[in-house]
Order: sequence, then C-alpha cells, then structure tokens
Amino acid sequence: GGCGATQSSLMRARMRLSLQERLWEFYQTRVNIPAEEQAMARRAALDICAELRVFLHAKLPDMPLREMYLSGSLYDDLQVVTADHAQLMVPLILEKNLWSSIPGEDTIMNVPGFWLVRRENLEYFPRSSSYWDRCMVGGYLSPKSVLEVFEKLVAGSINWPAIGSVLDYVIRPVVPSETLTLEVQYETDRKLYVDFLPLLVMEDGTSLIAKPHRLSAERNENLWRQSFRVAETARLRALDQEDGGCRCTCLKVTKAVCKLSPALHRLNSSQLTNTILLLSEKEGDWTQEALADRFLQLLRALVGHLEAGRLPCALGPKVNLFCELTEQEVDELGYTLYCALSDPEGLLRT
Ligand code: GDP
Repeated sequence: GGCGATQSSLMRARMRLSLQERLWEFYQTRVNIPAEEQAMARRAALDICAELRVFLHAKLPDMPLREMYLSGSLYDDLQVVTADHAQLMVPLILEKNLWSSIPGEDTIMNVPGFWLVRRENLEYFPRSSSYWDRCMVGGYLSPKSVLEVFEKLVAGSINWPAIGSVLDYVIRPVVPSETLTLEVQYETDRKLYVDFLPLLVMEDGTSLIAKPHRLSAERNENLWRQSFRVAETARLRALDQEDGGCRCTCLKVTKAVCKLSPALHRLNSSQLTNTILLLSEKEGDWTQEALADRFLQLLRALVGHLEAGRLPCALGPKVNLFCELTEQEVDELGYTLYCALSDPEGLLRT
C-alpha cells in the first residue's frame, strides 16, 4: 500500500544520495588532475611548441602559416585522469581566390560535417601559384598530403634527441600514428602526447582540421573534418556560468568513465559534450545536487542516441556524431551503457 510506496521511494532516494556521493568522490580522487601535474604537462607542450616555431621559421620561411598554438582539454580544464595529451594547431594560410570549400553533403560521399577544399582558377593561376598546390590531389587540397609534409619535417629533419636533451625531455615521433604525434617523456613516469593538427579557417569562420575520417579512409581521403570544438566547449561553459551548473563536472566524470573502461573507449568528448548540450535544451536543473540525476539521464540519452544510430551535433544538426562508428560498435556501446543503467556505480569501480 501507501506505506510500501513511501518506503521504496525512500530507498531510491538513499541510493541516489549514495550515487551522488560516489560521483563526487570519484571526481575528487580519479577524474580531477592536480594543478601541478597540469602545469608540468602544459610547460612541456609549450617548450616543444616554441622549438617547432623556431625550426619552421628558420627552415621554411615561405610556408604560409599563422602562428602555431596549443589547444585541447588541457587548456580548457576539461582533461581528466592524467594530463597526457594536447593538440598543436597549425593554421595554414590559403589564398581566398584560389581555394573554396564544399560541404560534404553536396559531394558524392554525402557526409555532413566533412568538407572538400577545391582549387579554383587553375586557368589563370596555374599549379604552384599557391604554396599549398603541392598538396593538391585530383583538384582538391588533400589533408593527408598536408600531414605528410609535416611528417617529413617533424619525423625526418628535426633532431629531436638533441632538442630533447636541451629541454631535458625524451622526445620521439610516434610511428605509425593516425595523425602526426610526438611522444614527450617529461618525467620518468610522465608522458605527454602532442598531436599536430593542421587547420584551415575558411572565410565564413568554419574551422576544418586535417583529421581523417575513420571509416573507408580511401574513399574519404580528401575530406577535411569540420571542428565544432571551440564553439561547443564555449557553449557548455556559458550554460554552467549562467546557472552555476554541473555540466562540465558531469562531462568530466563521464569522460573519465569512458577513458577508464575499455568497452567505452570509442565515445569521445565531442559526443559527450553534444549529448549534454542537447539534454540542456530539455532539462533545466543542473545544480550541483542534481549531478547523479543528470549523470543517469546522460547515460539514458546516450543509450537512446545509440539505439537510433544517430547523435546530431548541437551546433549543426545535419552532422551525425556517430557516423564514424561501425554498426557493431554502436551495438556494443549501447549494450554496455544499457547494462550500466542498472548498476551505474559499477562504472566508477574501474
Ligand atoms: P579529450 O582529448 O577527450 O580530452 O578531448 P579534447 O576536448 O581535448 O578534444 C581533443 C580531440 O578533439 C582530438 O582528438 C582532436 O583531434 C579533436 N579536435 C577537433 N577539433 C579540435 C580543435 O579545434 N582543437 C583541438 N585541440 N582538438 C580538436
């Protein structure tokens, strides 16, 4: 009767309370990275960035680049568990009249969120009018070829052992890697991975990065990936600032869960961030006290999106953020998360 209902809701309240407590404890002990560790990692990344700037200016003074800069979760206070990676953004300068961008949905590949960058006006400005013509493949700027240019330089002609010994780090290019990555050992037990990320900023502000499509790479070889990272991270932070919310904490806890459990490795920060942004459109209570409820709701929302095989990007709904997962991966992620719903604390015991 009524008494039983009250008791079971009381029990449920207690379970919630303890999940809430466990989430905060997990956040303090596993997720959050000590400020000192973050500072050391940033320091190492900055040292490497400075060396590369000097090297590129000296060795290739005419390569049209804007100043390289570091970015990623390490710089947004969104990195979790260990301070172990950063991106080195390398912005290429393209001549406006020589290159144009075509959205992926208007190409035969039909993939929103990816773009082709086409060489224009070849009749008036023949090949090699643009520095980046050397990376043109079939009339398009090839991200793969751009990466190869940097790979040759970074893996081939920089004396990393010498630079490393000056800086007191052990530095080596990681081969093979999907993108171009440097491994920097800056303490006996601390490693930092720095990814080179060539970047195009188009006239309308669209950011395109040279990070290949994960599936059928051959067919999609010329595609540049649109990056929403800056905008989506800013939106998440702004929402938290408006209401003192726990969205960033919820994101970091979930990122850590995915980083620590192999079955969830395939879920990335962008997918998690966008799921939280979409949830924020429906759900108003993001107070610190609601962390456990929102965490569970986030898991349920992910299960729902996985069931649908589709996670629209909050900043560009045509983009499906699951488009680089295979059907099997989608099923496995969905199954793992579905099971976790009945034992969410199990996720924190990894
Ligand atoms: P984390 O690596 O999970 O901590 O997440 P980040 O928020 O640092 O995202 C880094 C990932 O996003 C890398 O895989 C990048 O290749 C990718 N990415 C896409 N766009 C950007 C961008 O504009 N800046 C950076 N730093 N990374 C980007």
